[in-house]
Amino acid sequence: MSTLYIVATPIGNLSDISPRALEILKGVDLILCEDTRVTKKLLDHYNIKTPTLSYHQHSKIKKVNYILDQLKKGKNLALVSDAGTPGISDPGNKLIESILTKFNFVRIVPVPGPSAVTAVASVSGFPMDKFIFMGFPPVKKKRKKFFQEIINSKHPVIFYESPHRIIKSLRDLQGTNTKLTRKIVVARELTKKFETIYRGTIEEVIEKIEKDKIKGEFVIVLEEKR
Ligand code: SAM
Repeated sequence: MSTLYIVATPIGNLSDISPRALEILKGVDLILCEDTRVTKKLLDHYNIKTPTLSYHQHSKIKKVNYILDQLKKGKNLALVSDAGTPGISDPGNKLIESILTKFNFVRIVPVPGPSAVTAVASVSGFPMDKFIFMGFPPVKKKRKKFFQEIINSKHPVIFYESPHRIIKSLRDLQGTNTKLTRKIVVARELTKKFETIYRGTIEEVIEKIEKDKIKGEFVIVLEEKR
C-alpha cells in the first residue's frame, strides 16, 4: 500500500523541523508542494534531493493521473504546504479531501510539527485548555458576523491576518464594541528574526504595531469573554 505523508514544515526558523519529518522528506519518492520554490529553500538547507511537484486542487488531470500512477506503483509521497501544518488555513485541506476521493487506496499518515496556531497559543498566557480557531477573517461578506463571533466567544479565539489587513481587522474587532478592554496578543513573524509579540488592549496594540513597520505575518489571540 502506498503512503502519503502529510508533513508539517517550519513557519520561519528552518531548525523547527523534526528528525522524523526530515527522514520522510528524504525517503519518499516525490514531494507534493503548495509552491515548489518555497519548499526548495527548506530542501536545499537540509541537502534533500527528493523530486518535487506542485500540486493543488485545480491541478490538470494529466498531473492528477501522474500522481495516481505513482501511488498505484507503490511509491510513497509527502505533501507539504509553504509553511506549518498542511490543511490549517492553506490549500492543503481541499487537497487532502480530493486525495481521499481520487486516491482512496492510499494510507494517509500525519507527521506533526509547527503551526502558527499552536505557536501563538503557547505564548498567549490565556487559558488555552479550550480555544477557538477561526482562520482568516472574510474580506467582505460575513465579516461583521466573524468579528461578532470572536467578541462573544467564551473561549480565547485565534485568527490569522496578513500585514495589509492587520490594522483594519483589529479596528473592526474593536469597532464591534467600543468599550472593549479585553486583552489581545498579536504575534508577528514567529520564529523569525523580527519576531514580535504585542500584548495589551486592542487600542494599545494597534498603537504599537503602527509605530513599528507593519511587515510580516500575523496571528492574533483575543482573550475570552468573561
Ligand atoms: N498552515 C499554516 C500553519 O500551520 O500555521 C498556516 C498557513 S496560512 C496560509 C498563513 C498564515 O499563517 C499567515 O498569513 C499568518 O497569519 C500565519 N502565520 C504563518 N506563519 C507565521 C509566523 N511565522 N508568524 C505569525 N503568523 C504566521
